Amino acid sequence: MVEPMTELPPVAHLHVHLESAVRWSTLAEIATDNGIDFPDHLRGGAHRFTSFTDFFDQNHLVRECLRRPADFHRVAVEFCADQVAQGVSYVEVSFTAAAHGERLGDLGMPLAAVLDGLAEGGERHGLEWNVILDTSRRRSVERAWRTLDLARKHDRVVAVGLAGDEDHPATPFAAVFAEAREAGLHVVHHAGEAAGPASIREALDVGLTERLGHGIRVLDDPDLTAEVRERGIPLEVCPTSNVALGFVPSFAEHPLPRLRAAGLTVTLNTDIPEMIHTTLRGEFAAAAEAFGWTSADLADLARASVDASFAHPGTKARLMPGAAARAPRTPSWP
Ligand SMILES: [Zn+2]
Repeated sequence: MVEPMTELPPVAHLHVHLESAVRWSTLAEIATDNGIDFPDHLRGGAHRFTSFTDFFDQNHLVRECLRRPADFHRVAVEFCADQVAQGVSYVEVSFTAAAHGERLGDLGMPLAAVLDGLAEGGERHGLEWNVILDTSRRRSVERAWRTLDLARKHDRVVAVGLAGDEDHPATPFAAVFAEAREAGLHVVHHAGEAAGPASIREALDVGLTERLGHGIRVLDDPDLTAEVRERGIPLEVCPTSNVALGFVPSFAEHPLPRLRAAGLTVTLNTDIPEMIHTTLRGEFAAAAEAFGWTSADLADLARASVDASFAHPGTKARLMPGAAARAPRTPSWP
């Protein structure tokens, strides 16, 4: 196995869901503490899901287990350790804060505990971080407003956005994201993974997204591809996740090389790492092996991730020497 990350400059991890990055061993302990049945086949994390039903079941289990402030705090601290262990310098971690808050009858608690844990873990392990609050397209517009309210209360929340089933339109949420941008927050939506170019068009024009969570189906529309390239909208590509969820037949057949050949800004990410047994280091290694990419290619991807991040310019400059001297990346709006 190639281990190219040792030769890479610092890398930013832009698309990773905290709930899908919890160690299975930790989840099993938390389940015991909270009196929740934990399936034996998931102890040790050896299970690999084989269907969407499995995926949803595992997601449901994670939600069931995380209940107390200490649970959220612990997984956030461990998340920092795990990111640093895989070579990540800066992370933008997605968290579905309002869903947990509503489930537990205390809207602010889960996010407050996660922010505390990230502060502690980031300090202890030397990780720079910010948070993206996502909300599912399948859920109510009211929940999206509550998500925005939470985001506005914490300066380490840098962005909000839509995740979940892309067959549900973004348009009903338009006012939420217009206000988010008014408030100085960034916006980033999942689009162009399960659904086609129309979902990307909607995420850009109506949802005001500044990056594309996935976005791999942009290539189905040459005009849209040209627009995304010209506007400098980065793609958060998560190849192993795409394969695991059945959107792409195999890693070797992933459109990653075609996305890069089209001149798009591509970043590599894990999305749901503990669910699919991957790491960011593993994604870089797999891409190098599958596509014959050199360390220069991988360094380009790493630099693109820092450039595409919502990190403070000072953080970017530290992570990417020379970045401060360049014009900041500002997406252009139609
Ligand atoms: Zn995702």
